[in-house]
Amino acid sequence: MLRLEGVHAGYGATTILHDVSLDVAAGEVVTIIGANGAGKTTTLRTIAGLLTPTAGRITFEGQDVTRLSGHEMVERGVTLIPEGRQLFPEMSVRENLLMGAYRRAARARQAETLEEVLELFPRVRERLDQNAGSLSGGEQQMVAIARGMMARPKLLMFDEPSLGLAPIIVSQVFAVVDRIVRSGVTVLIVEQNVFHTLQVADRGYVLENGEIVLRDEAKALLANDHVRRAYLGI
Ligand code: ATP
Repeated sequence: MLRLEGVHAGYGATTILHDVSLDVAAGEVVTIIGANGAGKTTTLRTIAGLLTPTAGRITFEGQDVTRLSGHEMVERGVTLIPEGRQLFPEMSVRENLLMGAYRRAARARQAETLEEVLELFPRVRERLDQNAGSLSGGEQQMVAIARGMMARPKLLMFDEPSLGLAPIIVSQVFAVVDRIVRSGVTVLIVEQNVFHTLQVADRGYVLENGEIVLRDEAKALLANDHVRRAYLGI
């Protein structure tokens, strides 16, 4: 579904990603593991069309999307749920959700999509008319994920969905990710909670200093000595 081949990308004259190649097949859950500053967010932003590669190629569903904008990528079915949620705090939860449905394929089916999404997020339904800024951190993260689902994405990318949340809320976030996967959406996830993530993922890539140094089945990564020492603290 998604393929990066030899992608270089960065900010201005600074190259952050060096020769990154990775694949995500339809229906898979793939994770990118790496330390702070390794380039995980940069990778997701590049796929989402928010950064343009300086070299290499990105294809989505067999078509070259290397130079498409963020808006065009959303239209193709690629949605990024950014780190830090980025909701509109002064707007209601409902308004925030409807903003997620700006993709053409989603706009026509807004009401139906909202119903489907609220099925996945009963707590969000109870808060529809509340200002997003008045919700707890965990509730805001659920709204951010629900907003991403409103675009009816084919590929949903999560950037640190559990950041700053209490452990019990983290489990709820992972339960939602699991339900999203089972609803047929392909997932690419960056998450500091590596142990938990490798249990829901099919495969993973380890990114260090902007380079992929390891790629394997999630089970194999859980057993890998380097991963255990560097990312699982075992
Ligand atoms: P974290 O877990 O800390 O978010 P990350 O692996 O997601 O880390 P990135 O956010 O991709 O890492 O950052 C990779 C590098 O790019 C860092 O050295 C960072 O300082 C740099 N960087 C990120 N955003 C910008 C920017 N807008 N301009 C310049 N450099 C940036």
